[in-house]
Amino acid sequence: MTSDKVKVFTKAFGFFIPYLGRTALQRVAAVGHRWSWQNTPDAKNVVVLGGSFAGIELVKRLSETLPTGYKAIWIEKNSHLNFSFNFPRYSVLEGHEHAAFIPYDGIAKNAPAGIFTRIQDKAIGVTENNQIQLASGDNIDFEYLAIATGSSQPLPVQVTSTERNKGCHELQGVQKTIKASQKIAIIGGGAVGVEIASDIKDFYPDKEVTLVHSRGQLLNNFGKRFGDYTLNALRDELQIRVLLNERPAIPGNFARGAALKFSDGHEEQFDLVIGCTGQRPNSSVLAAAYPNTLAKNSRILVRSTLQVFDSTDAKKDLPMFAFGDVADHPGPRMARAGLMQSEVVLDNILAKINGQPANRTYTPNWFVEGAIKLTLGKKHEVTYAMDNDGSDIMMPDRNGKLDLEIESAWKRYGVDFKEVRKGKTEAEPEVQVPAAVQV
Ligand SMILES: Cc1cc2nc3c(=O)[nH]c(=O)nc-3n(C[C@H](O)[C@H](O)[C@H](O)COP(=O)(O)OP(=O)(O)OC[C@H]3O[C@@H](n4cnc5c(N)ncnc54)[C@H](O)[C@@H]3O)c2cc1C
Repeated sequence: MTSDKVKVFTKAFGFFIPYLGRTALQRVAAVGHRWSWQNTPDAKNVVVLGGSFAGIELVKRLSETLPTGYKAIWIEKNSHLNFSFNFPRYSVLEGHEHAAFIPYDGIAKNAPAGIFTRIQDKAIGVTENNQIQLASGDNIDFEYLAIATGSSQPLPVQVTSTERNKGCHELQGVQKTIKASQKIAIIGGGAVGVEIASDIKDFYPDKEVTLVHSRGQLLNNFGKRFGDYTLNALRDELQIRVLLNERPAIPGNFARGAALKFSDGHEEQFDLVIGCTGQRPNSSVLAAAYPNTLAKNSRILVRSTLQVFDSTDAKKDLPMFAFGDVADHPGPRMARAGLMQSEVVLDNILAKINGQPANRTYTPNWFVEGAIKLTLGKKHEVTYAMDNDGSDIMMPDRNGKLDLEIESAWKRYGVDFKEVRKGKTEAEPEVQVPAAVQV
């Protein structure tokens, strides 16, 4: 583990020093830009669709760099940033869910007035004459479009409500249902399934918790030693029953009083079955007008420049980019990858505005972008990262914080954590979580 720490330090140093240098230069340039940018009535729109980990980064940078004659329009259906990293923990731990909904007020708050507008609405389509169609009935013109609509997963990974209070109520409903259930099965041994299983067992040691995974190794998208370490922690420390190589039919992603049938033919009844599998890319906005920009996995086809392309006419120059989890890029589906990609999209949009070719390309840095901090119960955390050559580092820690240090996320998005008290959903009504929500 000591050599892992040395490797992390060396890698982080090599990455973050130039990164911090670039960021410092950007801050200085932003000050000059604030004074020089002018709000003109005929300014053309650069539209950013999606305001989560990837989209926010592009909005911030566009508002520091767009030349006079252009402005950013940011379309996001949610009222707050849904800090979904913490949703598994806040599905079990009570009283913190409101902190996972971070106000958008702090984003680009020093930008010149008028350079960006946030619209809370759902995009339902893109037309061939460069307009976004919104659920409200409005249409927004764009000169360039950057799509960062991510992917969808049902509760408890994501909430369906677009408003914070209703989202809180959904998480409170999950907490209550988990608390009221004695025998619980979690299906899916990826990061979310592992985190929920270990939190349920650590917060409620008397419950019977079973984690069911279709592969022979937990966390099979990562290296074997991470999977083995996690299996030991779950089985030996937390006394969770882990069933590998089992693929029972899922009765619903949050099904109460449901049975699972296993490969040996036996059927077992559970008070609650939580499905933690499957992500659906939110790419339907392109489906009607640009069906050939979608890959078989429903992600959006992108060149190495992250510009969207049509598979039937790959040379066609579409004024669209896609990045983050919705794009069919070669990097990890992680927030840090979205951050890195936002810089590529920014440079390419600015190049096009200046009449230059969009030729900055994205090459994933797996070690930095694919690193994960996994929780294995209340205090046990493991940081894991794998390099492009297959070598990896793993660093366990036993000092995790119950609220997963959400305060620092608020700070990162420019809002004072004291604001968390505003509009806190104190007296929640009785929440109805559907008996079985189909995936
Ligand atoms: C439990 C958990 C823990 C994680 N931990 C980490 C971690 O530690 N580090 C890390 O780097 N990554 C982590 N990830 C992965 C990370 O959350 C994703 O990679 C990241 O959310 C992708 O960001 P995104 O902006 O591309 O998409 P999303 O986060 O999915 O956001 C898409 C946004 O687009 C909006 N949207 C979608 N469709 C529309 C529409 N039609 N109209 C308007 N708005 C729309 C959505 O409301 C949403 O705000 C974790 C994931 C989970 C589930």
